[in-house]
Amino acid sequence: MRTLRARLTLLYVAVTGGMFLVFGVAVYGVVGVLLMNHVDRTLRHTAHVMMSQIRRDEFGDIIVPIPDDLVLAAGMAVQVWDRQGRLVVASHNLRGYTHPLSPQGLSVTQPTLHTEDLQGHPWRVLSEPIYVGERRVATLQVAMPLEAVYRAKQVVLLSVIAVALLAVLLAALVSYFSVQAALEPLTRVTAVADQITHADDLSRRIPVPQGAGDEVWTLVQAFNATLSRLEALFQAQRRFIADVGHELRTPLTVIKGNAQWMRRIGKLDWEALDSIEEEADRLSRLVDDLLLLERAEAGKLPLRWEIVDLGAVATDVLREMQVVAREKIDLKADIQPVIVCGDPDRLKQVLLNLVGNAIKYTPKGGTVWLEVQQKGQQAVIKVRDTGPGIPPEDLPHIFERFYRADKARSRGKGFGLGLSIAYWIVKHHSGHIEVVSQPGEGTTFTITLPVISEEGCILETKDEPQTLEAG
Ligand code: ADP
Repeated sequence: MRTLRARLTLLYVAVTGGMFLVFGVAVYGVVGVLLMNHVDRTLRHTAHVMMSQIRRDEFGDIIVPIPDDLVLAAGMAVQVWDRQGRLVVASHNLRGYTHPLSPQGLSVTQPTLHTEDLQGHPWRVLSEPIYVGERRVATLQVAMPLEAVYRAKQVVLLSVIAVALLAVLLAALVSYFSVQAALEPLTRVTAVADQITHADDLSRRIPVPQGAGDEVWTLVQAFNATLSRLEALFQAQRRFIADVGHELRTPLTVIKGNAQWMRRIGKLDWEALDSIEEEADRLSRLVDDLLLLERAEAGKLPLRWEIVDLGAVATDVLREMQVVAREKIDLKADIQPVIVCGDPDRLKQVLLNLVGNAIKYTPKGGTVWLEVQQKGQQAVIKVRDTGPGIPPEDLPHIFERFYRADKARSRGKGFGLGLSIAYWIVKHHSGHIEVVSQPGEGTTFTITLPVISEEGCILETKDEPQTLEAG
C-alpha cells in the first residue's frame, strides 16, 4: 500500500464498493417493502371478498363460502374459527391442519396482520373478526406463504452482490490502469532523476509530448526548467572557478618570480618589490570585486540611500579621469544636474568603470564623451568613445563575470568584472544599463535611472538573487 497507485486504486475500489453497498441496501429494502405490500393487499382483498359473501343458515349459524383452490391466489389458505375455538371451515389445501394459522390473531378486534412460522415455513396471516350485529361470532384467517417473497428478495440480494463485485473489480482494473497511465510521466521523472544522479549529467531532459497540459506534465515541464537552471548554475560555477584560478595565476607567478629573483641576487630589488606590491594590489582588487559581486548577486549589496546629484558625481569622475586620460584621450563632457536617489559611492564606481573602460580601450588620439541629462522622469547617463568597439558576438555577454571581449587585447587590463559590477549596481538602483557598439565605430553605454520621486528618497531595491544575464 506504499505506492500512490495502490492507494488510489484502493480508494476507487472503496468508493465504488461503498456506493454499491448503499445502493444494494436501498434496492433490497425497497423490493422487500413492495413485495410485502403486495402480499398484504392481496390478503385484504381476499378477506374483503369473503366477508361480503358470508350468510346465515336457517338455524342462525353463519356460512362462510370458501373459494376453491383455483380462485385462491398463489397457495393462499383460509380458516374460520368460531368463538369457542372450533375450526368451522378451512380451505382445501389445509386439510389435516387443525391449528390456527395465527393463534394470537384469534383474539383481535379488528383486521390484523402477523408473520407466522408454520411448520418451518414463513406465512403472512390476516386475522379479521366476523361480527353479526354487535356480536363477534367468529374469526376469519387468510394466509399466504412468504417463501416466494423471500426467494425474490434473495435473488435481488444475490444480483446486487454480483453486480457490486463486478463493478468493484471493474473499478479496480480501470483505476489501476488509468492511474498507471496518469502517473507514467512521474515514473519517467524518477528514472531521469536517477540517471542524472548516477551519471552526473544535468543536460538530460524529460521529453514532453506535444499538447500535453495536465498537472503531471506541467510538473515535468517545471522539473525540466529546474534542470536547465541547475545546469546553467553549475556551468557558471565551473566557469567561475576556472576564471578565478586563471586570474590568480599571473599575479602569483609574478610575485613568486620576483621573490626568487631577490633570493638569488641576495639583496632587495626595488623594482621587484614594486612589482610584488602592484600584483598584490591587483589581487586585493580582484578579491574586493568578487566579494562585491557575490553580495550584489545574492541581493545583499549594502547601499547607502541618499539624495544624489548625478551631475556632481559625474563632474567628480571627470576630474579624476582627466588625470588618467591626460594627452592620450580627449575627454569631453556635457553634464546637467539630475537628482536621483541612491548610493553616491556606488554610482561613482559605475561611472569610473565606464569612463575608465572607454579611456582604456580607446587608442591614443580618440575621444570619450560623458553626458548626464534628465529626460522626463529618467536620468540618462551616456559614456561614448571612438574606440575599437565590441564585436556583435561578444555584446550579449559583456555584462557577464570575467567576460572579456577581445581576450588578447584585454588581458592584463582588467579582470572582466567591472561591467558586471556596474550592471548590478544599476539594477539595485532600479535602473537599466545597455550598450550599443559597432566594431571600428566606438561604443556607447547608456544608463537610465529613475529621477527622485515627489515622496523623496524611498527607493526600493529589488533583492532577488540571480546570475547575471546578458544586459
Ligand atoms: P575589464 O576589467 O576587463 O575592462 P569590464 O567588465 O569592465 O572588464 O569589461 C569587459 C570587457 O568589455 C572588456 O574586457 C572589454 O573587452 C570590453 N569593453 C568594455 N568597455 C569597452 C569599451 N568602451 N570599448 C571596447 N571594449 C570594451
